[in-house]
Amino acid sequence: MHEWPKAQGREKQPMLKANHAVMLLKTDARDQAWIDAFSDAMPELEVRLWPETGDTSEINCALLWCPPPELFDGLDNLEVIFSIGAGVDSLLTCPTLPAHLPIVRMVEPELTAGMVEFCLFHVLRFHRLMHRFETQQAERHWEELPQVPATGVTVGVMGLGVLGQALARQLSALRYRVIGYRRGPGAVDGVEVFHGEDELEAFMRRSMILALLMPSTPETNRIINRETLRWLPVDAYLINAGRGDLVNEQELIEALDAGPLAGAALDVFETEPLPQASALWSHPGVYVTPHIASITHPPTACRYIVDTIRYYRQGEPWPHLVEIDRGY
Ligand code: NAP
Repeated sequence: MHEWPKAQGREKQPMLKANHAVMLLKTDARDQAWIDAFSDAMPELEVRLWPETGDTSEINCALLWCPPPELFDGLDNLEVIFSIGAGVDSLLTCPTLPAHLPIVRMVEPELTAGMVEFCLFHVLRFHRLMHRFETQQAERHWEELPQVPATGVTVGVMGLGVLGQALARQLSALRYRVIGYRRGPGAVDGVEVFHGEDELEAFMRRSMILALLMPSTPETNRIINRETLRWLPVDAYLINAGRGDLVNEQELIEALDAGPLAGAALDVFETEPLPQASALWSHPGVYVTPHIASITHPPTACRYIVDTIRYYRQGEPWPHLVEIDRGY
């Protein structure tokens, strides 16, 4: 069961019609899986698959991924927008987005678990030097490399939101030293927290393995660049599972070639799919995956959406609302 924020004197928003919610669905290519999941989770919900909208005035909620600008035409009675992804950059950059409406972010347990698995996998790989043993095996070369205990490795989690905090908990359980970076102040159990631009350098100087789990916003754009990469310890590793535009890719390649980076695991890129000509494909020490660190699973995601609608109908506020001004 999810934890829901309590209503605190928020202005009541118009209720979705009690028994006839009509959902417009624009997915990421798994249409039937989403339709089946909604029919299991809330059979009475009428789901209309974009662009088969029918009478647009009947639609009062929408679940969206990368909406085209014309999608919002005629949706005059829309009350809430759900995002298929945890990241909302593709929604917020839609020029016709009705920004006065509540936008509910995707926060579901399987999505969180997938991201934790992805990041832990690469933290363990780099910490235990598996990438170097892979090279040694290919060369039939037997050599013991120094093995440092987890208590001697500081992992910097950049972005301490839903995903970053879940990762931090598991890293602590594996006895890593965990430091974290976020936009505003706020303590997190077991994590030494840094925040704001003034504390970025101190945070990066300690991060032997740096995991990026921040959203794409104007403030985070290319926050990892030549200058900030220089702050990392020698032979540091970078994991980017946030968004491609957090990193200046050309300057990342320079840091891999000349230091301080010893390797990187990249799931997201400035341009996706990663262009054939990119040097990252074949760079030694770089692991490329095609934006699969964590995907939203329709069955659990639909349960989350249906639960939020039911709670909202009881007078509770929408959870996990996007704040348009800050961009996430
Ligand atoms: P979230 O709960 O909104 O957390 C975002 C975190 O980033 C917060 O800790 C926030 O700081 C921090 N942040 C935002 N702007 C910042 C800035 N300018 N400087 C420093 N910190 C900043 O988001 P989430 O659910 O954890 O997801 C994080 C991101 O992961 C998503 O936005 C998405 O881009 C990415 N993602 C990728 C995949 C994939 O498959 N690769 C899958 C899911 C999500 P505060 O805590 O101070 O607000």
